[in-house]
Parts: sequence; structure tokens; C-alpha cells
Amino acid sequence: MIGKIIKGIGGFYYIHDGIGSLYECRAKGKFRSQKLKPLVGDDVEMDILDEEKKLGNVVSILPRRNDLIRPAVANVDQALLVFSVTSPEPNFNLMDRFLIMMEQQGLPVILCFNKCDLATDDEIASCVHIYKHAGYPVEVISVSCGEGIERIRSLLRGKTTVLAGPSGVGKSSLMNALNPEASMETGEVSRKIQRGRHTTRHSELFYLEKDTFLMDTPGFTSLSVFTTEEREIRGWYPEFREYQDRCRFLDCVHVGERECGVKEAVKDGRISEVRYENYLQIYSEVKNTRKY
Ligand code: GDP
Ligand code: ZN
Repeated sequence: MIGKIIKGIGGFYYIHDGIGSLYECRAKGKFRSQKLKPLVGDDVEMDILDEEKKLGNVVSILPRRNDLIRPAVANVDQALLVFSVTSPEPNFNLMDRFLIMMEQQGLPVILCFNKCDLATDDEIASCVHIYKHAGYPVEVISVSCGEGIERIRSLLRGKTTVLAGPSGVGKSSLMNALNPEASMETGEVSRKIQRGRHTTRHSELFYLEKDTFLMDTPGFTSLSVFTTEEREIRGWYPEFREYQDRCRFLDCVHVGERECGVKEAVKDGRISEVRYENYLQIYSEVKNTRKY
């Protein structure tokens, strides 16, 4: 039987069958000799020992489609990045750092602005505009009013998604709205997992519906861009691609160069000034912290 590791704790792996059952498993045989550190998100082959008690053995890890470093999880399809339109105000610099991190890992991102019930249409439009313009899918929701929740549900369907964003923007509220039955899901095994949760913070995938999983990640307040090569950063701005052909110099980094297509596009509003200013800041930060 095939399933997905949703949590590993104290030598046990909790394997979800993608339909509704969760099995408590130990590693056996080939799996142990594979020398691959199993990750949450890994699809595995398991032998069921006791269907009633939901016990089994994991026998092998199936080939991974990808693995993320931050957070450590395998076979992720996308990230759902949540910010709020207000309270707290969106920190676009932080958002751009997160987007860079996902571009580096080659992961598609859905941007989600929550708490639209608290903001004016103009406030919402200015947030949305910056990122739609940069080519990212943007959703506006209110967990409190239920607005946009079904749309998010449909974007997650059939996929494994990492949920991320700063604290206080409504990530836990969204998680609960998407999965109101989370707490009474799976009886005995779920109680065992609950017990573990209070002791250590492990990464864990939550089952939402058939073949649909969501991973909550700790809220972040700052993010470093992990590179020592400032010239790489331009490649993680999808909206630069269209204009870089117009740069005079092939290796233009769009900072101080003459005849720069990207800077021209910023000047006449085709590239967001907010995004470009953050680019300059991150560029100089990486450049100045380079170790010789
Ligand atoms: P987290 O830190 O990202 O997990 O955020 P929480 O889910 O704990 O939410 C932080 C606060 O924002 C809580 O007081 C929520 O009730 C509130 N909140 C969440 N979503 C909304 C929303 O759509 N509208 C409003 N007005 N408040 C919200
Ligand atoms: Zn340029």
C-alpha cells in the first residue's frame, strides 16, 4: 500500500493513505537500508500489520519529486503565502524575501491577502496590484467573513501546499477554516500525535481532503536571503525577465548601469517601484555581507 508521511516522531512514522486513514508505522527492511533520511511529505510503500488498530511497517521511500530545505518537507507542489492587508500592515520587503526563497527552490507561490474585511478597496487594490503586476497569483480573502475560502480550497485541491507568512495574519484561522474537523479526525493515532505536539515542534502535514495536504510553518518576522552572490538575485524577479533584453550590458544587474531596461520599466511604472526598491536593498545587503 502507498501512503504519505505526515509526521515522524520518536521512531514512528504516521502514514496517511490520502483518503482518510492514518497508520502508525515503524521503519523496516529496504527502507532502513535506503540510507535516505525520510522526510515529512515522502510517499512510501507500507505493509499493513493490523488494519483495525491502523498499524504498519514502512518498507520503502518512493522517488521524491523535490525536497525543500526550509521547511524540511518532500514532494511539495506549491506555497501559500499569507499576509494581511492591514493589522498588521503588509511588510513587502519580507514578502519579497519569501518570494525569492521560493523562486530559489523552484516552487510556485500563491499570494493571499487576508483580513479584507478591515481594509478599504483602495488599500486592497494597492497590495494586489504590486504582485499581480509581478506575475504572481493573488487572492484576497477574509477568514472572519468566509470570503474567498472556497476559492483557496479549490487552489489546494489534490496538492501538497506549504502555508507560510508572518505571525498575526490569520494562518491558524485559515487552517481551521479549511479543516474544521482536524481535531476529531483520526481517533487514537490523532491523540498520540496531539500528545507529541506539546513537547516538540515537529513539522507536520495536515490532511484536508482526498490527496490534499497542508503544512503549517512557524510564523517568521525576518528572512535572510541565502546567497553570497548578489548577481544571482535578479534571476529571482520574474518581472525583470521581459525587460532585461533592453539592457545595454548583457550582465546588467540593473543597479548603477547606463541604459538599463529594468530601470526604464521602473521609471514608467511597468515594474513596481516597491519591488525594485526592495531588490536594491537586498542586493546591497548580500553584496556587503559577502565573506572574502
Ligand atoms: P497567525 O498568527 O497567522 O496564525 O494568525 P491567527 O490565525 O492567530 O489570527 C490572528 C488574529 O487575527 C486573531 O485574532 C484572528 O481572530 C484575527 N483574524 C484572522 N483572520 C481574520 C480576518 O479575516 N479578519 C479579521 N478582522 N480578523 C482576522
Ligand atoms: Zn539592466
